[in-house]
Amino acid sequence: MIYFDHNASTPLDERVLDAMLPFFTTFYGNPSSLYRHGRAVRSAIDTAREQVAALVNAAPAEVIFTSGGTEANNLSLNTLPAKGRLAISSTEHPSVTDFAAHLTTKGATLHHIEVDSLGVIPASSIDYVLNLQPDLVSIMLANNETGVIQDVRLITDAIKAKNKSILVHTDAVQAVGKIPVSFKELGLDLLTLSSHKIYGPKGCGAVVYNNEHPLKPLMFGGNQEKDFRPGTENVAAIVGFGKAAELAAIELNHRHAHLAQLKQKFEAALTQIPNLCIFSQTTERLPNTIQFGIDGVDGEMLLMNLDRGGIAVSSGSACKSGSNEISPVLKAMKIAPNLAKSAIRVSLGMSNTEDQITQFINQLKKHVNH
Ligand code: PLP
Repeated sequence: MIYFDHNASTPLDERVLDAMLPFFTTFYGNPSSLYRHGRAVRSAIDTAREQVAALVNAAPAEVIFTSGGTEANNLSLNTLPAKGRLAISSTEHPSVTDFAAHLTTKGATLHHIEVDSLGVIPASSIDYVLNLQPDLVSIMLANNETGVIQDVRLITDAIKAKNKSILVHTDAVQAVGKIPVSFKELGLDLLTLSSHKIYGPKGCGAVVYNNEHPLKPLMFGGNQEKDFRPGTENVAAIVGFGKAAELAAIELNHRHAHLAQLKQKFEAALTQIPNLCIFSQTTERLPNTIQFGIDGVDGEMLLMNLDRGGIAVSSGSACKSGSNEISPVLKAMKIAPNLAKSAIRVSLGMSNTEDQITQFINQLKKHVNH
């Protein structure tokens, strides 16, 4: 199989697996236990916390482990005060949009911040956001479908200059490990991470939060993670996440260079295909993500044809694949429905090669010419 769907999930790095294995066998104790065996497990969690914090330039005490990016996004938005005002960008992941919708059933007011046709929040929207007088603003750092990178720093600086008490959250699930991400420099209060997008295990993530604004738990019944996320820790996954974060930090430049080089080759080849449009091509995007449409082609059908040829891609965000709806992200960008229906997302990873790109292009030409 040629795997071009790394924004959906990445393969587990073998070095990560090696780090995890002892926590299924030798170190099986409960990290809350006070005897030596428990303390050794606790110490492994502490190390992972340091590794994750270092990846995003945060303090270890600011990291709360969760079951993944979805829970981290839910937990971040749950800091909204009762009946508070929430503003989110119109291209957020469902774990933000759906939880925001849920908050409105509890009395919250929800506003959407529009994007332009490239999927970018225009600087002119900042005044709109400030006029809303929101309690919390959530803007993803990099989009899972288009790869578009928002200028979160610019937006956060403008918000904080006007009103320091407005909390700002970013979903950095897709950005981290591909571009530098600094919790401190971005001036954020809340940041979401997920392990399985950086060659770590699934079912693990984190919220990085500003200690001045405590989280509000979604679950109750234990003192783990400062009471913000009770329940016995998923130790092996947390250790794996920590190792994946450490490797992502060390290898960031190398990974970026490899992905960017492949992406450039890929896009150069794609532009040879008639009627093909690469979404958001002229704005800053992740080094691994290409989403394109071909007028008159059915994206789902193309996906299935490519699958038959041994190539895995996505036709939209991972959580929505399988449904034949137009991607809400492309809808927010006001992409024509016919073109949006043909959307295919290619997301590259470290094991991809130029030869795989050639194979993809050959197959694509075959299917498109029918
Ligand atoms: N946020 C973004 C931007 C994502 O792409 C995803 C996963 O696809 C998530 C959040 C959810 O992360 P997880 O799969 O760890 O729950």
